[in-house]
Parts: sequence; structure tokens; C-alpha cells
Amino acid sequence: AFGDTDAQRAVRENDRNFVFHSWSAQGQINPLPVAKGEGVRFWDYDGTEYLDFSSQLVNLNLGHQHPGLVRAIQEQAGRMATIQPAMANDVRGELAKRIVEKSFDGARSVFFTNGGAEANEYAVRMARHHTGRQKVLARFRSYHGSTATAITLTGEARRWPNGTPDAGVVHFFGPYQYRSEFYSESPEQEAERALTHLEHTIQLEGPNTIAAIILETVTGTNGIFVPPPGYLTGVRELCDRYGIVLICDEVMAGFGRTGEWFAYQAFDVKPDLVTFAKGVNSGYVPLGGVVISDEIHDTFVDKAFPGGLTYSGHPLACAAGVATFDIFEEEGIIERVRDLASRVIEPRLREITAKHKSVGEYRGTGMFWALELVVDRDSREPLAGDAYNAVIAACKNAGLWPFAAGNRLQIAPPLVISEDDLVKGLEIIDAALDVADSYYTG
Ligand code: PLP
Repeated sequence: AFGDTDAQRAVRENDRNFVFHSWSAQGQINPLPVAKGEGVRFWDYDGTEYLDFSSQLVNLNLGHQHPGLVRAIQEQAGRMATIQPAMANDVRGELAKRIVEKSFDGARSVFFTNGGAEANEYAVRMARHHTGRQKVLARFRSYHGSTATAITLTGEARRWPNGTPDAGVVHFFGPYQYRSEFYSESPEQEAERALTHLEHTIQLEGPNTIAAIILETVTGTNGIFVPPPGYLTGVRELCDRYGIVLICDEVMAGFGRTGEWFAYQAFDVKPDLVTFAKGVNSGYVPLGGVVISDEIHDTFVDKAFPGGLTYSGHPLACAAGVATFDIFEEEGIIERVRDLASRVIEPRLREITAKHKSVGEYRGTGMFWALELVVDRDSREPLAGDAYNAVIAACKNAGLWPFAAGNRLQIAPPLVISEDDLVKGLEIIDAALDVADSYYTG
């Protein structure tokens, strides 16, 4: 298809004329027509190649056109393409079983959705029915999806134009040592003070009004925040003390991204509900869901759960989910993420941070990292506007598609990336940061 200008023109025209895009002023965008994707790369119609350091929207954990995923979907389509959710289905049950088996002690069942926002909607609904309480505490600097409750939970600018579709949501600050709200001097102190702030929030809102606390176990789009020592166990303790349900949003962080099946597994914490999507089947067919604890499952044993979706547990999506588990085992995905993170990514990012004055800090885990770009290391003023756009453009011009968010260059390649490609991508980032340095004013 490369060089086929007629095909390219048709893709562009149909897109411009008929497709309404997310998060965009429709007259101000120029979406890239993509002709092909393979592994960790995709190409436009001119044959320009991009190394994908963003895994699309941090969902393409096993890369494009993984033969195991494609085969599973094809076989399932040939066998049974769809069946409604009130009936029992083999791949749906198999996937639920595998997810529960990899989940926390006391995980009991899975409710399937079509994506991450819906998963959070349903988790909150379950927590409300389970506790008989209405409020939900969510963090600033979070993204939980774009439907009514999910966008209200979201703790960043995308919430504002949508008003407050869910009046029961309250926001609090989480730990963020680099721009601390708590004047802390160590990660431990940051955790401790963030917990005090959370407990005060709970007390002032009224503990018996709060159904749930929801947090991204490792925050994604808003900056890759790995919880400091003691924070998550502290949140768990507060939830236990006040009878609050703990919801871990693992939509972005789950399924190997952090070098764990689920990110919470690195922190010795047991959630009550876990939401997932994206990496569960690399987005080959839309799928998300909620992992439900014994206690919350029990609430709905004799009482009906008031909610459902036509495509809950769609067989094509679930078949790709089951194949994901097989591929993770066959290809040792978790082990390779850990190995490449500690041997290649972390040392290289440390070096890059030492070399480029525009990098205020690097942080992350697994294949989930952020470089915080600043124009002054003392004031920590973020690199923004044209300067930031120039850095992103430099990456793209050199053939790397970065995960651009806020003032950060974030790094989240498919988990199947080879060491060579990882090194190559980090090389491009290193070079693009010369552009960031040229805007340094400190
Ligand atoms: N939660 C987190 C942490 C996310 O990163 C996202 C999407 O980026 C969502 C929820 C929403 O998922 P979806 O876009 O599938 O609705």
C-alpha cells in the first residue's frame, strides 16, 4: 500500500468528512493515515516508519498483529462470533478464571465491560451498593475515563468542561515528591504526609458517607507516579478503619506494564475491586472489566446487581484475552519487562537525566516511565507550549512515536520490544532532548 496516493487520499478524505474525533476541535486536527502495523512499528502511506514508544494509547502490550492474538480471534469468529451475556460461554468463563487466578487472595469473580471507563463506572456502582454510601474519593492528577462518573473521578483538566455529572466525587492529593504538596524531604515522609491529608479528607467528608477510594495503582497519563514506600498499605489501612472499598484502577498499569501481572502486586496490598482494560487483550477487540472480591460478590448473591451491557464478555474479546495469558507465559513477558527495565531502561534514563539539564527527574517502573521536562531545575517550571511541541516533533521526525503528556516525555513501548529497538528509541529521545535543552532558561 506504500506510495498509493489514491488510497491515502481516500483515507484522509473519509476521515475528514465523516469521522468525529475524541478530545479535538474537529477543524484543527490532521490525523495520520496509518497503512500498516507490525510488532512495535507502524507506517504511514508514504512508508514512513514509526517506532511506537506509546503502545498506541498504552494498550498495545503485545504489539501489532501478534500471530497468537490474530489466530485466537479468527478461530473464535469461525466457532462462535457472539453470544449474549446472560448465557454461559467457554472463552468468557476461561478468561474470568485466569484473571481471578492471577489476582489477589480473595478475588472471586469478574464483570466484563467494553473498556476502562465503563469498568470504573461499574466498580463505583458496586462499591455504592455494597456499602450503602454515595461518595467516592479520587486523586488529583488522575485519569479514569470519559463517561459520566469516570470523567468526574478524573483529577485533571479534562474534567472541567464536563461539569460535575457525578456529585458524589471528592478529590484529594496523592504523593508526588518532585512537586510535593506536603513539603516532604523523603519518599517515606511524602507517603506519611499524603496519608495524613487523606485521613483528614475522610474525616471532614464524613467516613460513613464514603463508599470508595479509587486510585491508579501506578498513575499513567498524569505522570507515572509509583507509590512511595508505605503509601498503598497506608491507604488500605484507612479503608479498613473506615469501612471504605479500595478500587485499584489498573486500566493502564495492569497486564505486565509495570513488570507485574497487576501493579498492586509489587506493594503488598489487597484491593477490593480492580479495574482493567487495554493490556488484557492489547486492544485487539474492546474489552475491560472489574475483578471483584469475595465480600463484594457476596452482596449480590441473593440480591440482583442492577447493571449490564449487551457486549459484556464478548467472545471475540475474551478469546484474545485467553490468548494473552498463553502468550505472556510462552514469551516470558513479565520476566523480560523486569529484565529490560533494570538492565536497559533505568540506567539509560539515569544517564539521559544527568546529561540533559531540561530533564528535572526521571521516574517509573517496568515499561512505564516519565521524563519530567523543565526550563529551570531550581524553579522546576515545566517545559510547555512551542518548546514542548518542538521536542515531540523532534521525536516524530526521527521516527519515534512518544507518549506525550503534560510537560513529560513518557515511555511505554509494547512489552514485546527487542533490546535493540529499546536502545534505538532511547537514543532518539536522547537526541530530541537537545531541543529541550535549547529552551532551558535556568
Ligand atoms: N483508567 C485509566 C488509568 C486509563 O489510563 C484510561 C484510559 O487511558 C481509562 C481508565 C479509560 O479507559 P477507556 O479509554 O478504555 O475507557
